[in-house]
Amino acid sequence: MSTKDYLEKDYYAVLGVPKNATPEDIKKAYRKLARQYHPDANPGNKEAEEKFKGVSEAYDVLSDAKRRKEYDEARTLFGSAAGGFAGTGGHRGGGFNFDLGDLFSGGTGGSGDRIGDLFGGLFNRGGGARTTTTSRPRRGQDIESEVTLAFGEAVDGTTVSLRLTTAAACPACSGTGAKAGTTPRVCPTCEGTGAASRNLGNFAFSEPCRDCRGRGLLVDDPCPVCEGSGRGKSTRTIQARIPAGVGDGQRIRIKGKGAPGESGGPAGDLYVLVHVKPHRVFGRSGENLTVNVPVTFPEAALGAEIKVPTLKGMPVTLRIPEGTPNGRTFRVRGRGTARKDGTKGDLLVTVQVAVPQHLDDKARSALEEFRDATEGPDLREELIKQARSE
Ligand SMILES: [Zn+2]
Ligand SMILES: [Zn+2]
Repeated sequence: MSTKDYLEKDYYAVLGVPKNATPEDIKKAYRKLARQYHPDANPGNKEAEEKFKGVSEAYDVLSDAKRRKEYDEARTLFGSAAGGFAGTGGHRGGGFNFDLGDLFSGGTGGSGDRIGDLFGGLFNRGGGARTTTTSRPRRGQDIESEVTLAFGEAVDGTTVSLRLTTAAACPACSGTGAKAGTTPRVCPTCEGTGAASRNLGNFAFSEPCRDCRGRGLLVDDPCPVCEGSGRGKSTRTIQARIPAGVGDGQRIRIKGKGAPGESGGPAGDLYVLVHVKPHRVFGRSGENLTVNVPVTFPEAALGAEIKVPTLKGMPVTLRIPEGTPNGRTFRVRGRGTARKDGTKGDLLVTVQVAVPQHLDDKARSALEEFRDATEGPDLREELIKQARSE
């Protein structure tokens, strides 16, 4: 059977069945037509002989699931061209800017061979897929997991144990759904195909077989572990390295720690959604840590050396200059979170001038003395002037 035959001949029409006809329908139609045009029943009738040959050829292709699929694929691929081509020879098929008649007429060399190669490759692929569906290497699925880290663990990086549960074949029955020691039998209703067809006039609908629910197999003695479903779960614990500096809400991809691949395929990846617990003292700003530090008014006004806390370390001394305004941020280098290159971010220290809530007599009179000593123009005068001029 050549590719040209596939494109030229409508085997479904020859047998008088719809494109989605079941194997039974095809067999029935063939038997009827074969009886009708059989040479024994039509001695000397050339036309009947041709018809008989055509019917046999159509049945040869359509009764073989593999060849039928190839045929269907070929006609779907070049469907519109084939439709016109069958009747008119060198018809330019819709959507194709080449002449099928020319392509197929040249037996040697030329583009006809290339088309043959194209189909050959296509068919080989199709045929190969059918026999290797179960053994073709397939990459495992990606898995999602979550982890909640303490603030410091996120800053420094850590290794966490993750319990991963993935769908897997029931271990008791290896996924067959049949009790250990028994084997499922082929469903007699669908003969193992898992599909049933319903005929409604000229149309046949394919639906999952009701007796075996589309599995093609029947289980008389269901596996007690999975209650016959064949589905199970596999749980494993893995150690995952969480890099330093991970932030709250970040997803970490850990290559190859997802579901195992099938038939030698690579494993999927594991994605870990990271939650980071807030810290009472420190905040995060990218690779920097942040901290708010109270200072007294005299410290801010006169300048001072103050001690500031660091994460998991001894406090460090920070010099704040004379006249430091409230809210100014200072940088302590190398006291932030770890970077990829091994260096560290900084600690950003923001000073907040604390206003005393209670004053004893001595402090009060000193402050009043300070007020009198620093009396000058109204601080708000300029502001009020600007507000009016707008
Ligand atoms: Zn089971
Ligand atoms: Zn069935």
